[in-house]
Amino acid sequence: MTLELKPIVNTTRKRPILIAGPCSAESEAQVLETAKGLIDHQIDFFRAGIWKPRTRPNSFEGVGTIGLKWLKQVKKEFGLKVITEVANQQHVYQALKYGIDALWIGARTTVNPFSVQEIADAIEGVDIPVFIKNPINPDLNLWIGAIERMHKAGIHQIAAIHRGFSSYGNSNYRNAPMWQIPIELKRQFPDLPIICDNSHICGRRDTLQRVAQKAMDLNFEGLMTETHPDPDQAWSDAKQQIKPSTYKDMMKRIIYRNPNAIDTVSLQDLDDLRLEIDHLDNELLDLLGKRMMIADDIGQYKKCNNMAILQPSRWEEILKLAIQKGAKKGLSEQFIASFLKAVHQESINHQEKVMN
Ligand code: PEP
Ligand code: MN
Repeated sequence: MTLELKPIVNTTRKRPILIAGPCSAESEAQVLETAKGLIDHQIDFFRAGIWKPRTRPNSFEGVGTIGLKWLKQVKKEFGLKVITEVANQQHVYQALKYGIDALWIGARTTVNPFSVQEIADAIEGVDIPVFIKNPINPDLNLWIGAIERMHKAGIHQIAAIHRGFSSYGNSNYRNAPMWQIPIELKRQFPDLPIICDNSHICGRRDTLQRVAQKAMDLNFEGLMTETHPDPDQAWSDAKQQIKPSTYKDMMKRIIYRNPNAIDTVSLQDLDDLRLEIDHLDNELLDLLGKRMMIADDIGQYKKCNNMAILQPSRWEEILKLAIQKGAKKGLSEQFIASFLKAVHQESINHQEKVMN
């Protein structure tokens, strides 16, 4: 389906949509101090969580409705637009009652179509921007489903927030970015703005800059970053929050890529390089086709001789040699392994078809 979208911010300006503010509203003083520290940084929305979805109990679960008054105060004192997270119908009604300017749906809510639908029903007919975080698991369709539910409820100011995905085991990221997922979302919905929540991807301060830059290099439309006047003392997500002054430094260092930059000489070079890539991709497809025809022949042979399809030792050998060879050509082990596994699986499918 195509989304009928309206811009969330004035489109004539050429900078990303910026959202900043604390993970959680903790006190009126903390909220106002953070906002004061951000007024000169051209942010579009001041964020603060009021109801905090925590994975485990006994963590700080937000101050609740009283925080909405503090956000209202931010609007009044500093003229900033404010955004908060909603996870159910009551949150929506409360947020609207206090004049919150935009809403976001958190990762733990996006996974649940019942909750998303409940929010969509509560919001129906209201003209308010809604930002939808990716679900915690790497499921693009779940993310798209939430976006479609909002759209069906008549919301036209929609943006996606990429906050990374849960994965098991140690990683440099709190939530693995799996960039190919938001890239695919962009391919399917080119007009949908994508905001990078570098805070929840990184989970730490020292990598925020790099991830923000990567999002800009990919032409994402905005950034959401958690800021706190005294990050180490924050009641939630202390490790990833930064002071407004650090936020300012980060934003100063960001290099904005111009997607429409027309430099005719390099554009010519780029066209040539793309032609070459297209040509090589075609060759790869031809070769893969040929490889599968051979797999069909092998399937025929195995069928006649009543042999099993999978010969693990041979497969191990192929993989090992390919990884060695790939390394010499600058191809990572991970790439070779996943590429060959996909090819191998397709071969098995072909053989199976022949044999059965
Ligand atoms: C948040 O933005 O503070 C938050 C809870 O994020 P997420 O839903 O991405 O975990
Ligand atoms: Mn947070």
